[in-house]
Amino acid sequence: MAKEEKLNPFKIAQAQLDEAAELLGLDEGTHMALRTPMRELHVTLPVRMDNGKVKVFQGFRVQYNDARGPTKGGIRYHPEETIDTVRALAAWMTWKTAVVDIPLGGGKGGIVCNPKEMSQGELERLSRQYIRQVGRILGIGKDSPAPDVYTTPQIMAWMMDEFYWQIGYNDFGVITGKPIALGGSLGRSDATARGGIYTVREACKHLGIDPAKATYAIQGFGNAGQFAATLHTDVLGGGKLVAVSDSRGGIFSKDGIAPHAIVEHKLKTGKVEGFPNTKPITNEALLELEVDVLYPAALENVITDKNAGNIKAKISCELANGPTTPEADKILTKNGVFIIPDFLANAGGVTVSYFEMVQDHYNYFWDLKTVHERLDAKMTKAFHDVLNTFNQYKKKNITMRTAAYLVSVARVAEAMKLRGWV
Ligand code: GLU
Repeated sequence: MAKEEKLNPFKIAQAQLDEAAELLGLDEGTHMALRTPMRELHVTLPVRMDNGKVKVFQGFRVQYNDARGPTKGGIRYHPEETIDTVRALAAWMTWKTAVVDIPLGGGKGGIVCNPKEMSQGELERLSRQYIRQVGRILGIGKDSPAPDVYTTPQIMAWMMDEFYWQIGYNDFGVITGKPIALGGSLGRSDATARGGIYTVREACKHLGIDPAKATYAIQGFGNAGQFAATLHTDVLGGGKLVAVSDSRGGIFSKDGIAPHAIVEHKLKTGKVEGFPNTKPITNEALLELEVDVLYPAALENVITDKNAGNIKAKISCELANGPTTPEADKILTKNGVFIIPDFLANAGGVTVSYFEMVQDHYNYFWDLKTVHERLDAKMTKAFHDVLNTFNQYKKKNITMRTAAYLVSVARVAEAMKLRGWV
């Protein structure tokens, strides 16, 4: 592949699928049907800005595969969003819902915009406009969006409300990740990180690492990264956070960074830099630290063939989607880095989104303890399904990511076959 192609997330997602299809001996028709999205909608979104002028935004919704149930997946607001990123993310959602075995397919949405430069009013009008356009393909049994990079519970509330004006009744379950007061689920806000932490607990057991003594570093300090910082110690009973970074820069302390205090600092100042008793560190250097657990929790393609050889972490728990390229995967696996692949590691978010849909549909809500127990059961089962497959294929030298693909692709292919699609 040419260099640009090598970093195209959709090409990467297709190459990952191809490898799994070959190992599974998947028939050509099923393989080809899984290689591209079933449906996608491209929309133009004119929005009145605060200065009185209309600005036109570009948006997408991709419904990758709904053989196992209605499509599900977040909406990203990002200045560098592209249709191929959304396609890749929608494919990964398909494998994600399958690996945790919830009755949903995979989808994703995106708007090319920079939310950091927009007012709340502009964001509300843009979000409502998106639903005016995309609402026609959403709904119970069709497709349910959720938050992703730079989208929030407030944005989900506006979207759910706009959909209400379209259909004429409250369908809370059409959007997840909503505020609790509007049919949100307890435990949804930290679910992505919490699910990842449960898989780290299982990986530590498997590798004989005591997570309470483990050092850890976090690259990316949005929702997933912030909750990983505090939950690693709160759920696993200890551990030492030595470095965190966000898009502006990072901080390091060999003596440890207090997890709750750094989250407070980030929420107050908007950055991690400037936290007392720490030294600056770049995102690149953070990834190469000698730690027990590395949490890539930002965006795609941060671990590539260029730096994979320098990664010294024992476990890489991918809270971000697509942080590691296929070449890097092979290098990490060869060097003994235990990868908890993205669509397994970060499946906690969509799992609690599914719980949210279930609660919305029967209009009765669970307590937090029930959400945590059910999430733990789903994540633990998924982790061991993947690990068992990894062990079964030992002789073929596959990566943990390929093992996760084998589990998920087989499940989606079975559903397609049973429906008579292939
Ligand atoms: N955006 C999240 C993800 O990538 C959550 C999706 C959802 O809750 O539907 O998994």
